[in-house]
Amino acid sequence: MMTNADSRAVPLVLVADDDPTMRLLIRESIEQAEFTVIEAADGRQALDAFDCRRPDVVVMDVKMPEMDGFTACREIRQRPFGEHIPVLMVTGLDDLESINRAFEMGATDFVCKPINWAVLTHHVRYLYRASRAMVDLSASQANLKQKAEQLAHSNSELEQFAYVASHDLQEPLRMVSSYTQMLAKRYKDKLDGDAEEFIGYVLDGAARMRQLIQDLLTYSRVGTAQAPLEPTDVAQVLAITLGDLEFTIQANGVKVTHDPLPTVVANDGQMKQLLQNLLVNAIKFHGERAPAIHIGAERKGADWLFSVRDNGIGIAPEYAERIFVMFQRLHSGGEYPGTGIGLSICKKIVDRFGGRIWVESEPGNGSAFYFTIPA
Ligand code: ADP
Repeated sequence: MMTNADSRAVPLVLVADDDPTMRLLIRESIEQAEFTVIEAADGRQALDAFDCRRPDVVVMDVKMPEMDGFTACREIRQRPFGEHIPVLMVTGLDDLESINRAFEMGATDFVCKPINWAVLTHHVRYLYRASRAMVDLSASQANLKQKAEQLAHSNSELEQFAYVASHDLQEPLRMVSSYTQMLAKRYKDKLDGDAEEFIGYVLDGAARMRQLIQDLLTYSRVGTAQAPLEPTDVAQVLAITLGDLEFTIQANGVKVTHDPLPTVVANDGQMKQLLQNLLVNAIKFHGERAPAIHIGAERKGADWLFSVRDNGIGIAPEYAERIFVMFQRLHSGGEYPGTGIGLSICKKIVDRFGGRIWVESEPGNGSAFYFTIPA
């Protein structure tokens, strides 16, 4: 019956040597270490025994009739189950050529003659343990890989769902707001004050929902392949972003300064989205003073470290992680409008660029948002 290491209580060692005395001595030494031993008198017999019994470790003499140890070792390596089984070659003393050849043929290790029996036993025990550890490791790696694939699959399904749902919500929402606007226009003089106020609430709700849907769409688009990672001139992207924010910057009397900015592997559109979200927040959450924002960049080891520093209301340290989670906001919509999606978009973009993002801040002392991108 074919058995293997997983179903076997006592590990099995195949000893291949054409000298019966040597086989006996090796057997006795290995059996003391609580292994079961099977024997083969040449390379061909060794292969038959290997196929039939699938040993956990092979101890094989180099010189044997019919098929030598080198050839048998190479054959074992070509078998589906032979790739990772430890093969310990027994070579002549200082026979460098044989030792080299043995490794070329896929041997795991070697022992020289005359054999030191205590060392041989340790060798076999060690090789067995190492190979079991390897088997366990590759099993858990395979398991992890499968889990990661399942996760990626369900993530992309979820993203697809979020995208389709958000996209399809736009149309009915458009109808709600256009007909409400039409209602307000057509019945302008026939509606009482309450009705006008209620219509205002409907339109305001619809506008907030439109913003929410747009942000959700932006969030679910971040992972798509239509935004290839390529050299991105951050200085140029910042200039375009500031150009787009010109009106807000002027209206709020914002002062923006920046360090010389590098070119990194990223994506123009997503880098713009990232800077824009951080800048808009830095302006929105301003304090008493006119907003002053500085965009920094410095080389830190293998990364570029960027920062967007403001002089606004700041954030209590206990909220430093929470704000990057979707829909998490520290203020009511009445105080500061927003959807709570901006920073989760930033996090998703920085993750995609292979970096990380965090905030350092304290209430009343402004905030510094940091993110890294591999250089
Ligand atoms: P939104 O701005 O739409 O509320 P974000 O995800 O961009 O959503 O930000 C989440 C929360 O983090 C904000 O509601 C605010 O409480 C806090 N925050 C973000 N940026 C700043 C900043 N520059 N200064 C102070 N608080 C900030």
